[in-house]
Amino acid sequence: MKKKIPGAIIKTAFPTIFQKPATVGYPFEPLKIDDDYRGELTYDAEACIGCSMCMRDCPANAIEIINIGTKEDKKFKAIFHLDHCIYCGQCVDSCPKDALVMSNNIELASLDRNNLKVERE
Ligand code: SF4
Ligand code: SF4
Repeated sequence: MKKKIPGAIIKTAFPTIFQKPATVGYPFEPLKIDDDYRGELTYDAEACIGCSMCMRDCPANAIEIINIGTKEDKKFKAIFHLDHCIYCGQCVDSCPKDALVMSNNIELASLDRNNLKVERE
C-alpha cells in the first residue's frame, strides 16, 4: 500500500528547496574558525623558562618541556602529544610567560599516530 506523506512535512520541507544548505562544504571549502577557537598549541621557546607548570597542570599528560641545552645555558623544547591533548587550554592559562598559545588550526588528524607527537623548539 502506498504511504501518504503528511502535509506538515511537505509544508516544512518544501521551502528548504530554495534555501542555502545549513551544512558547510568542508573539506572542499575552508571552514570559518573563530580566532579564539582552541586548536593546535604554539610554543615560544624564547619565552619559556622551563618551569614545568604546563606539564604539572595538564590533565592529559599531553605536553612535555625538556631542556635541550646545558645545565648552565638552558634551552627548551616542547613535545605535544596531540593524541592525548583535549584542547582544554589549561597549559596556556598556567604558563607564566605566555609561551603557549592555542591557534585556530584544527587540521591535525592523521592515520599514523607517530605524526601526533609534535616537537617544537
Ligand atoms: S590543552 Fe589541555 S590537554 Fe592539551 S596540552 Fe594543554 S593542558 Fe594538556
Ligand atoms: S609553563 Fe610556560 S614557561 Fe613554564 S615550562 Fe611550560 S611553556 Fe615553559
